[in-house]
Amino acid sequence: MQREEEEPLLTRIIVAARDAIEANWEQLSRLDQAIGDGDHGANLRRGFNALHDARSRIAELPFDEASKLGGMTLIKSIGGASGPLLGSLVMGFATAGPRMPTSRGEIALMMRAGVEAVKARGKSNVGAKTMIDVLEPVTAFLEEGTDVSPSAAAAVARGGAEATVDMIATKGRAAFLGERSRGHQDPGATSSALIIEAICRQLEHAA
Ligand code: ADP
Ligand code: MG
Repeated sequence: MQREEEEPLLTRIIVAARDAIEANWEQLSRLDQAIGDGDHGANLRRGFNALHDARSRIAELPFDEASKLGGMTLIKSIGGASGPLLGSLVMGFATAGPRMPTSRGEIALMMRAGVEAVKARGKSNVGAKTMIDVLEPVTAFLEEGTDVSPSAAAAVARGGAEATVDMIATKGRAAFLGERSRGHQDPGATSSALIIEAICRQLEHAA
């Protein structure tokens, strides 16, 4: 236990994200089997294991450099549509500068830069039944909130993922199904929510 407390917050966040994917990758692939090609869990498992392998190198860098290396690591290892998208998200966090953001306002600015990078890369926005349906409401919640707790942000992420069930996909592979994509939760929205929930639990402990 003592050793765990001594790890930098960024390292603990990477470990928590990896653990969340490791515990859920089969479920994520099952969701992707329903409306995609079934590889989302395996893709993310590869990516977050690579990020985990690089965690010591990443955590000793200034935050902006750490974001760039983390994002590149995800892009190189995840593949699929989600690799470049999640990579763009994390590389977008570099706009926060050399110091890791801690206040709600700083985290909101960082998330906004990341989400806009995802939208630009995926030529997409909310309502297309993708990870953006989690990332955007969480970012908006951080931007609007005055007294935002990590657990409240985690609940917004979960709600965003659940809201994709009723949506018709207009981006990504699921868009080929059109109307038949309805009734299934989007795998990318689900993984983003799982990761955000895991990070929020770490932030709650750190507070
Ligand atoms: P692939 O679709 O290439 O097999 P994955 O299965 O790893 O890649 O990822 C699929 C997820 O990527 C989807 O569930 C969706 O959330 C996300 N996604 C796909 N296309 C886009 C896009 N244009 N914008 C945002 N997210 C997208
Ligand atoms: Mg897939």
